[in-house]
Amino acid sequence: MYVMLLGAPGVGKGTQAKLLMDRFGIPQISTGDILRAEVQKESPLGKQVKEIMDRGELVSDDLILQIVENRLREPDCSRGFILDGFPRTIPQAEGLDELLKRINPSLQLKVIEIAVPDEIIIKRLTNRRVCPDCGQLYNLLLKPPKNDNKCDDCGAELYQRDDDTEATIRNRLAVYRKNTEPLIDYYQKKGNFYKVDGDQKPEKVFEEIVQLLTN
Ligand code: AMP
Repeated sequence: MYVMLLGAPGVGKGTQAKLLMDRFGIPQISTGDILRAEVQKESPLGKQVKEIMDRGELVSDDLILQIVENRLREPDCSRGFILDGFPRTIPQAEGLDELLKRINPSLQLKVIEIAVPDEIIIKRLTNRRVCPDCGQLYNLLLKPPKNDNKCDDCGAELYQRDDDTEATIRNRLAVYRKNTEPLIDYYQKKGNFYKVDGDQKPEKVFEEIVQLLTN
């Protein structure tokens, strides 16, 4: 099962990717998570991308394609994967086409767009909190942790992403409209493209996605 989740920041791609990962036993490939891990480690790559990420701008296509190629060549991706937050530009989508041809020419990618109105996205992202240890996602309004700012699963102190401030969120949405939204047309033309309403409870969105993937 080869899945791409497409949609603006905050539509629930990460939440759905984690649910899909648990259900189907295939890895989530989140370029954002990979980059954040590098920033955390203060590696040369992390230092190179931190400011770009804090502004909500995009990291260069070449760099992202290299990261994705390395990741997709790992053995756990041979049975399937869930792309989350990649591709984000037309050159990345073209690079992915080339890469998949090289890795597995018969691979069938299913593209799922998750759509949510902007004002709801802003509300969701300013209230988003993340567990630094296990990656579990919370929302102070919709899915608050049971204990004050602690992860329900592992007890770690939750944090707010540096780019989840209102100004950066607005920039990330503008970047999405300009660079990433054209991918909807790109994949619609290719086929195997589906759209789900992301302005519903996560379990309901998940049910619809599973239905699309297993039909
Ligand atoms: P995300 O966690 O997907 O919201 O990504 C966080 C940030 O990482 C983005 O705002 C970009 O700065 C960077 N990033 C993640 N994925 C990509 C990508 N495919 N292309 C370019 N930049 C990316």
